[in-house]
Amino acid sequence: MGFSTDCIHGGQWYDPHSGAVMVPIYQTSTYQQQGIGKHKGYEYARTQNPTRQALEENVAKLEGGACGFAFASGMAAINALMSMFQSGDHFIVTSNTYGGTFRLMDRILQKFGLSFSFVDTSNLEAVKAAIKPETKMLFVETPTNPMLTLTDLEAIGNLAKERELLLCVDNTFATPYRQQPMRWGADFVVHSTTKYLNGHSDCVGGVLIARDEQWREKIHFVQNSAGAILGPMDSWLTLRGIKTLAVRMDRHERNANAIAKALCDMPGVDRVYYPGLPDYPQRELALKQMGSFGAIVSFTVSSQERAEQVLTQFKLFCLAESLGGVESLVCHPASMTHAAVPAEHRAALGISDGLIRLSVGIEDESDLIEDLAQALKA
Ligand SMILES: *Cc1c(COP(=O)(O)O)cnc(C)c1O
Repeated sequence: MGFSTDCIHGGQWYDPHSGAVMVPIYQTSTYQQQGIGKHKGYEYARTQNPTRQALEENVAKLEGGACGFAFASGMAAINALMSMFQSGDHFIVTSNTYGGTFRLMDRILQKFGLSFSFVDTSNLEAVKAAIKPETKMLFVETPTNPMLTLTDLEAIGNLAKERELLLCVDNTFATPYRQQPMRWGADFVVHSTTKYLNGHSDCVGGVLIARDEQWREKIHFVQNSAGAILGPMDSWLTLRGIKTLAVRMDRHERNANAIAKALCDMPGVDRVYYPGLPDYPQRELALKQMGSFGAIVSFTVSSQERAEQVLTQFKLFCLAESLGGVESLVCHPASMTHAAVPAEHRAALGISDGLIRLSVGIEDESDLIEDLAQALKA
């Protein structure tokens, strides 16, 4: 089946009790058993929930994996993945990974004897140089936030295979509509479903998908033991969001393309970062592995003061953290999403004080461009 069909039907069933077309919200903590050890496969809702399972099967299908698991947040999904390793294991992680991922690894997991090298994974030689005998997994985020740097998934997939390392890709920004890392050899894919998968800015969640069946029991064991499950209502909202993923992404990207081009001609804009721009250095790589360019656009103005001034002028773009919802958002990475990153580290990543990031929504393109133009004119 095609991708859009899988978004709508993957892992879904009509309710056998009533024929309801939508998978019901099984808002229950436990299930009636017919006798000791006799039940319908459901015992306790931390362990199994039909609404959650429908979402889990759906995302596994979209990513081309054997199994999927839904968690209370993207961070809980990443934490569950890391819980399968042990003290002494080493990991190579994209240097400009999501701030929460860096914090989890650097401030929490390190205490338990896991070690991390944060490396520019767009540079294959740097990745090779960081591999140690105790390295177990490469953890890659592509494209990155907010600089939109890409890691070559084919190259990194081949390297992982050659060196017998596991590979996990955080696919939150590209979504499975645009990028399916398992095709390039990824063993795991994680998502913050809070972003494009749910797409409506009304719930926080995360998923972990494994390519091979051998991981099913291990991940389920962690999910059930540590217990950071996604609740039935949030599972249902996410499932509903995913049904329109393909049409939303098409519109998000069309708007983002138009906005990136328009920004290039607006006075006071120094640089525009968007993989779809003709002079973007990784444009070809984006086309190869994403088939498109996503819907995050970053640009710079002259200074922090100027950025602050512009940010207060927006009428439509909402000043907020997060991304991937139907409404357009704007943020100032240096003082918001990346405030916890030390200033010199921020500078090395290219996150200047004048950098502004847009999560382009699906409103009318002309309204969005007009809003940007008037905010920059002020
Ligand atoms: C938001 C985000 C996360 C964390 O997800 P939460 O749902 O906020 O816990 C992880 N990775 C990326 C790329 C993100 O954008």
